[in-house]
Amino acid sequence: MAQLGVGVACNNCCIMCTTIMPPPNNWNGSTEELEREILKNRTHSSVTITGGEATIRPDIFHLLRFIKKTMPNSRLTVLSNGRMFCYPEFTKEFVKTGCDAVAIPLHAENAEFHDRITRAPGSFEQTVQGVKNLLEYKNKVDIEIRVVIHKLNYKHLPAIASFISNEFKGIQRVVPFPIDIIGNANLNRKKLIVRITEVKPYLEKGLAILEKNGFEFNLYHIPFCIVNRRYWKNIAGRTVEERRITFKSCRGCIMKKSCPGVWKTYAFRVGTSEFKSITASYKKKYKQRQFNLL
Ligand code: SF4
Repeated sequence: MAQLGVGVACNNCCIMCTTIMPPPNNWNGSTEELEREILKNRTHSSVTITGGEATIRPDIFHLLRFIKKTMPNSRLTVLSNGRMFCYPEFTKEFVKTGCDAVAIPLHAENAEFHDRITRAPGSFEQTVQGVKNLLEYKNKVDIEIRVVIHKLNYKHLPAIASFISNEFKGIQRVVPFPIDIIGNANLNRKKLIVRITEVKPYLEKGLAILEKNGFEFNLYHIPFCIVNRRYWKNIAGRTVEERRITFKSCRGCIMKKSCPGVWKTYAFRVGTSEFKSITASYKKKYKQRQFNLL
């Protein structure tokens, strides 16, 4: 999988962004520079465009078409705050490029709270409208809603799940994951860091709502020993490939090989005392219980 960062310019200024916003260096790749980068990566089976905010670039449609032409068999995804899709003409042109998927974060279930996190008034209205406009083309482009979890919004997870269930029927999937404590998230870490065991009950309530409403969801950067085994099948790995991190407490854990672990920055800032190794007897007990329920 190739990741193509197109620059740091953005129309939001999210409190938990992994880039420092506003950016101290104003790097935005030129069209030629990015084309060269695309050519270098043309053997990859999938490519993800990241920013900043890629959709505010004047050459975005050209770049997407260039990728589709150069890598016709690879899956193309754009990570976006979704605001530009509130313009129907923009969405129509975007879909014509043949881009396969868009991943859009939703930070809260209402404008006041979402905009407090993005620090961009009006962003919630635009993002929600953007998702709705994209849904008009749901047969052509997959829409993934991402929920970046931190101290400011974790108690909102059930309300966010209800909002998604009511407003975004037809999206491909929902992906909740905890913040990576770098960039703005690191600068604001005192306001943002929350222990994953504190998040657990709110997360599971949210997942139950999504499940009840027939939504697909994947969990990233969340270990098996944290969530109810009911959701183990939804543990999908990491949003960014990085070296697997295991802890002392994982010694002997039967899920160690397939466990995504947590962000390294979480282990560094919060520690690893919450993670408890899963034993074979636990698995046996679980299997027995499933059998008894049949
Ligand atoms: S104990 Fe370690 S390997 Fe096992 S599920 Fe927890 S974090 Fe993953």
